[in-house]
Amino acid sequence: MSKVVMTNIEKSFGRTHALRDLSLTIPEGSLISLLGPSGCGKTTALRILAGLISADSGQTFFDSIDITNTPAASRDIGMVFQAYSLFPNMSARQNVEFGLKVRKVAPNEIKRKVDDILEITGLAIHQEKYPHQLSGGQQQRTALARAIVIRPRILLLDEPLSALDAQVRDQLRDEIRRVQLEFGITTLFVTHDQEEAMTISDQVGVMHQGSLMQLDLPQRVYDNPENPTVARFIGAMNEIPAVVAGSSAIVLGQRLEISQKSEYSRAVGQHFALVRPEFLLLDAENGEGEEGTISQVAFLGPTSRIHVALHSGTKVIAVLPSAQALQFSPQQRVRVSIGLSSVLVSD
Ligand code: ATP
Repeated sequence: MSKVVMTNIEKSFGRTHALRDLSLTIPEGSLISLLGPSGCGKTTALRILAGLISADSGQTFFDSIDITNTPAASRDIGMVFQAYSLFPNMSARQNVEFGLKVRKVAPNEIKRKVDDILEITGLAIHQEKYPHQLSGGQQQRTALARAIVIRPRILLLDEPLSALDAQVRDQLRDEIRRVQLEFGITTLFVTHDQEEAMTISDQVGVMHQGSLMQLDLPQRVYDNPENPTVARFIGAMNEIPAVVAGSSAIVLGQRLEISQKSEYSRAVGQHFALVRPEFLLLDAENGEGEEGTISQVAFLGPTSRIHVALHSGTKVIAVLPSAQALQFSPQQRVRVSIGLSSVLVSD
């Protein structure tokens, strides 16, 4: 259970600049996810933290101790990868026992710790099975139990759920969080799945081309993105043509303040306002806003998604509570406006 600090990490593989000046702090006992598209450097950051590869420059600390040059085996880390990496010739129980035996823990202590973790992870009834007799979810649970039983200082999880089907994935995701909180293990979780990162983490780090663009509470990453790149990557976003006029922008005929997080060049002719679907307001044909025609209404349960083709040519999506969406149907003419006073503007 340590605080982890990585400072100014740089890493290149030949011409690929995989990490650019990455600085990251994981408070003791908390879970941070690194989220980003394929190739953005998430796994490289995790492997440097594990000591499996070394950075070109920068430092890594566990608590205040510099472990930049400490070999992986001495870092006291538990890891779970995407591919089930269990020993095939050992039962689930033997897999979990392995790390404790290597550490020469006393047999009665091993029994107690392994019984405990098998119970916590729901594996007690499967403990005599070999990996090929376990389902994917059970195998990942065994890998998690094996990583945690040694009470590592840090737990590293690299896409541990991506090979599982949706239902098992959700279940195991909640279980990982429960176990992580129960043991208070400082954890780094690498994923490209937004929902996974948002639901499981204390903080989410959004990466893009080797840089950490924002590290923040899940809700803040969504509601208050640091820049248009984060805004576009997280959740759904409408891109609506905007005319920049001083410190405001004209969008759908409305004058809105330009958010400080905007990034646009005045030299570029065309700008866009980034507006989340839940901030688009639909009104009857004679109401406020720009005219459009509904092309599709998709019922999603508590909310519905309404696709509108604006008569100016832009297509937008609005998300409304389903009870409110009942009044709208395909081919209906509507007015679309924005329920915000300021917007993020981008090129
Ligand atoms: P994914 O979600 O696809 O796993 P990622 O965000 O984890 O992607 P990394 O695996 O960290 O990305 O890779 C970052 C970049 O570094 C990629 O362009 C990748 O091709 C490159 N890279 C990673 N490892 C190596 C290596 N051993 N040799 C050469 N290039 C590498």
